[in-house]
Amino acid sequence: MKNWLTLEPDRVKLMNKHYTPGRAGNKIECVVVHHNAGVLTIDQIWDVWQTRQASAHYQVQSDGVIGQLVWDADTAWHAANQYTNQRSIGIEVSNSAGASQDWPITDTAICEAGRLIAAVCLHYNLGRPVSGDNVRYHREFYGTSCPYHLAPGGKYNAALMAEAQRFYDELKAKKNGTPAPQPKEEITVSEADRIIRHITDYISGFVGPIGSDTKDVRQQLTGGRDAGDYRGWPQLGKDSQGRNLTVVDAIAALRVELAEFRAEFDKHVEEN
Ligand SMILES: [Zn+2]
Repeated sequence: MKNWLTLEPDRVKLMNKHYTPGRAGNKIECVVVHHNAGVLTIDQIWDVWQTRQASAHYQVQSDGVIGQLVWDADTAWHAANQYTNQRSIGIEVSNSAGASQDWPITDTAICEAGRLIAAVCLHYNLGRPVSGDNVRYHREFYGTSCPYHLAPGGKYNAALMAEAQRFYDELKAKKNGTPAPQPKEEITVSEADRIIRHITDYISGFVGPIGSDTKDVRQQLTGGRDAGDYRGWPQLGKDSQGRNLTVVDAIAALRVELAEFRAEFDKHVEEN
């Protein structure tokens, strides 16, 4: 698109038949998504619709170029349902190969189609694109599989809608002159499992043994196991209150005795 905010397409190649001028007074309420079931450029689909009683407002080529074939203000014949045609914008997306390859669509075309949905929703005040609400699908109105992989449950629908919603937020922010909201970081279930496993492994493999070692050291120093339950060591002797000495108490007592012995020794050397 040349301009998403004003809905100016890359190319305009208007149908001269197989559409209805105006919308009989109806407002645009939704977009209807189609796939070509064909590999077609703007010129080629124009040829097809000139010979068949059908049309849509926009054609998205495989290279992402978007063409306008019916003005938004007019009624295109795309949903095989006059009520819906008068109240919707028809968006056609080209396939990049045929039935033998199960009608693939390029990433570029899916992306541009998503952005076009967003731009139409914003331009006509239809709100943020929501599948089944302001974003509808051909098969809802007619006995067809169209838009096939682009429809809910199809392999391209999630990518189409994700880009439509992301781009809607970006375009709306641009229109309002506010910064675009940043996508939230999300933790997937498998990531959460991995983090929980990492923490569990860390505790059982590293923190647990350190805690156990610390308790061993305390037990060897004090003879006690839990805080306030320091039994000390009977083989180190007892303090003045009759309690067993701890290793630290015993070493302190030993230092006092050693100092006394040394003083005694020095005095003896001096005297002799
Ligand atoms: Zn269709």
